[in-house]
Amino acid sequence: MDLEEFRRIGMRIIDWAADYLGHPDRYPVFPAIRPGDVKGRLAPTPPVEPEPMDAVLTDFEQIILPGITHWNHPRFFAYFANTASGPGILGELLAACLNVNVMLWRTSPAATELEELVLSWLRQMLDLDAGLHGAIMDTASTASMVAIAAARDSAEPTIRLRGMAGQRRMRLYASEQAHSSIEKAAITLGIGQEGVRKIPTDPAFRMVPEALRAAVVEDLGAGLRPFCVAATVGTTSTTSVDPIPAIVSVCREHGLWLHVDAAYAGMAAIVPEHRDVLAGCEGADSLVVNPHKWLFTPMDCSVLYVRDADRLKRAFSLVPEYLRTEGDVTNYMDWGIQLGRRFRALKLWMIVRYFGHEGLAARIREHLRLGQQLAQWVDADPDWERLAPTPFSTVCFRMRPSALACIMRSADEAERESIERELDRLNEALLDEVNKSGRVFLSHTRLHGRYTIRVAIGNIRSDEVAVREAWECLRAAGARLCADERF
Ligand code: PLP
Repeated sequence: MDLEEFRRIGMRIIDWAADYLGHPDRYPVFPAIRPGDVKGRLAPTPPVEPEPMDAVLTDFEQIILPGITHWNHPRFFAYFANTASGPGILGELLAACLNVNVMLWRTSPAATELEELVLSWLRQMLDLDAGLHGAIMDTASTASMVAIAAARDSAEPTIRLRGMAGQRRMRLYASEQAHSSIEKAAITLGIGQEGVRKIPTDPAFRMVPEALRAAVVEDLGAGLRPFCVAATVGTTSTTSVDPIPAIVSVCREHGLWLHVDAAYAGMAAIVPEHRDVLAGCEGADSLVVNPHKWLFTPMDCSVLYVRDADRLKRAFSLVPEYLRTEGDVTNYMDWGIQLGRRFRALKLWMIVRYFGHEGLAARIREHLRLGQQLAQWVDADPDWERLAPTPFSTVCFRMRPSALACIMRSADEAERESIERELDRLNEALLDEVNKSGRVFLSHTRLHGRYTIRVAIGNIRSDEVAVREAWECLRAAGARLCADERF
């Protein structure tokens, strides 16, 4: 590309981006399109002749943009929000421009050293102990898989050479609320879904340590090979926190690797008065936190901390002659399966410098306040009920008209079940209706089998006005649906 053209188009894109980021709420959060609409409007075969960038950008605005779900929108409250902050976007731009490959120290010394430095900063902000060493991965799914691989190979070092054949059946433990990535890691690593034992949770959706201990003892008695516990700080459905100190004790008793999945809620520890969310993690062997979830970092950026980097490297290091180097340096290719690695540390470093620890903490603190505020609004409305505690900024609830609540109290089990099914249908229709409106975007889960609406507040652009609008949107849609004879 001619550099004058690069400059002209680059300026145009930055201008567009500044306008967009100023008002992502000009767009519906969720687009009103059907599957296939976007592809149907684009050429099915690649252009033979070069095309002017102006024409490409016109298609971006007219075809791509109307098909985007706007994660930057202040009323995006689905899944766990991930928002792109200004310094993070600019960091991505610079990283793409340099296009270094952070596989060996010498393939980009500054990128390797910046990764070490910024992960030390993040560790300090999270008040984690200095014994942890970090590496940036694409996602928490990869980070957990890498950690569980290290746990597996530490427990049975011959697996690295001979694979799983002839091994006792390996056993990994996670609560029934753990993220699906833990099971996917087990599938990938030859442990299999049956190798994951789901430990029951208490009424607040937290792993029960006594049940974990009993399960490990039972499995040992049955000749299985327990090797790892994957605990969660901030489960996906309800953001519950497993009791890490008690789980550490079980792991110590039986020599198990403890991996902590704090992908979302770990970031709350940046707020000094919430540091205790990671209490006990000094007993963990590995821990993952996702700056791309709740630290305003553009996709993707997940951080894996390990206590003993050598155990991780023993699982993954494999140095062919063409990658051999000398010297006591960090070669991040030894920390996982990827050889080529993006320069993700740059955007994270720019974010931390731009906002500072206090600026990041202030934003997360405000999200925590907004979560509590919404929980209070739900609790105060007799037609709605909360279905889980709200330890952070994600609220789980459903509509349950007060008239039905009265009937349920005197109903027998069969009648109650039938009302419950109606409530599932009502809440599913409610979510569908508010999402279709394009004003808010929410997602759902099931708790104790019941359809549950989730509002996850974590977007850097979400404020009280946005949260109130989501709540009013739900209440208005609820009132409309209740007046509808289908319910
Ligand atoms: N762990 C938890 C607790 C999550 O909530 C999620 C995603 O929401 C993940 C892991 C997976 O994250 P990623 O998309 O980075 O793989």
